[in-house]
Amino acid sequence: MGVKRALVLATPEQRREAEDASRRLGELSAGIYAQAVMHVPIESARKARDEAKRLDADCYVALGGGSTVGLGKAIALESGLPIVAVPTTYAGSEMSPIYGITEGGIKKTGKDRKVLPRTVIYDVNLTLTLPPKVTGPSGMNAMAHLVEALYAEDANPIISMLAVEGIRALARSLPLVMKNPCDLEARSDALYGAWLGGTVLGAVGMAMHHKLCHTLGGFFNLPHAEVHTVILPYAAAYNQAVVPQEMNRAAEALGAKTAAQGIYDLSVKIGAAVALRDIGMPLEGLDRAAEIATRNPYYNPRPVDYAGVRTLLEDAYYGKRPE
Ligand code: NAD
Repeated sequence: MGVKRALVLATPEQRREAEDASRRLGELSAGIYAQAVMHVPIESARKARDEAKRLDADCYVALGGGSTVGLGKAIALESGLPIVAVPTTYAGSEMSPIYGITEGGIKKTGKDRKVLPRTVIYDVNLTLTLPPKVTGPSGMNAMAHLVEALYAEDANPIISMLAVEGIRALARSLPLVMKNPCDLEARSDALYGAWLGGTVLGAVGMAMHHKLCHTLGGFFNLPHAEVHTVILPYAAAYNQAVVPQEMNRAAEALGAKTAAQGIYDLSVKIGAAVALRDIGMPLEGLDRAAEIATRNPYYNPRPVDYAGVRTLLEDAYYGKRPE
C-alpha cells in the first residue's frame, strides 16, 4: 500500500488487541486510538481525525467489529486515507462501502468507495474471545445481509449464489460456535459466512428488513445486531409470497420448511432473543415505529404498507414463531 504510519483503531474493550497489533507493526505504527463506540458519533470521528493528523498517520488499521470499522470509515470519508480492516465480529462492514455517522442523535448512512477498506485480514484467532451473547446476534446480522441480498432490487445470479452459500455456512457453524466458542473450525466457518454477508451487502441493495432495523435501532435506541436477529424471520415471512423461489433457496440452505421458520429456529437454537420486548422495545412504540418505517417509500419485493408493518412488528414484539 506504500504507507508508513498506521493509526490502530479499536474500542476501549479491545485496547489490548490494538496494543498487540501496534507492537507487531513496529515502526509502521503511528499510535493507537482506542475510543471507538457504537454508531460512530460525529464527535468521536472528529477526535479520531484530529489524532490521526497529530500523529501524521497515512493509514488506519481498524481492529474490531462494525463500530471500529465504522469509525475508520468516518475518518476515511474525509481524509481519503486507506483502511486495513481486521474484523473480529460477523457484522460484515469491512466488505461494504456503506458508512454511518450519528449527529445530533440521528444516524445518517451513505455509500462511498473511498471508505471501502483497501485490505481485509481475517484472523480466526481474534474471534475466539467474542462472547456468546455478541456472537449469536452478530452472526444473525450477517444472515440478514445474505437473506435480503436474495430479493434485492438489483439481485444477480452470482451474488445470490454467494448469499445461499453464506446462509448455509452460518446455519451450520453458529450452533457449533455457541456450544464451543473455541472451536476453530466452526469459528472459521462462521467468519466465512460473515465475509459472504459483507460481500453481498456491498454488492446489492438491501430492502425492508434493513430499513426497519435502522428505524427501530435509531429511534428506540435498541442494540443493532439484536434488532436484526429479532426482525429477520418476520421480514422473510412478509416477503415469502412475493419471492417464493428466493425464500425457498434460503429455506433449503437453512434446512427448514420455510426461510422464516428456519431463521427463527436458528435464533432459538443459539440462545438469541427472538422478541422485541426482550431487547428494550416499548409496546406503545409499535404504532410510531410502523409510521416512521412506512413514511418514505423504498424498495421491497412486497410493497410496504402501514397495516402490514404494524402486524409484523406486533408479531416480532411477542416473538411469535412465524406460521
Ligand atoms: P461492535 O463493533 O459494536 O462490537 C460489540 C462489542 O464487542 C464491543 O465492545 C467490541 O469491543 C466487542 N468485541 C468485538 N469483537 C470482539 C472479540 N473478538 N472479542 C471480544 N470482544 C469483542 O458490534 P458489531 O455488531 O460488530 O457492530 C455494530 C455496528 O456496526 C453498528 O453501528 C452497525 O450499524 C454497524 N454495521 C455497519 C455495516 C456497514 O456495512 N456499514 C454493516 C454491519 C454493521
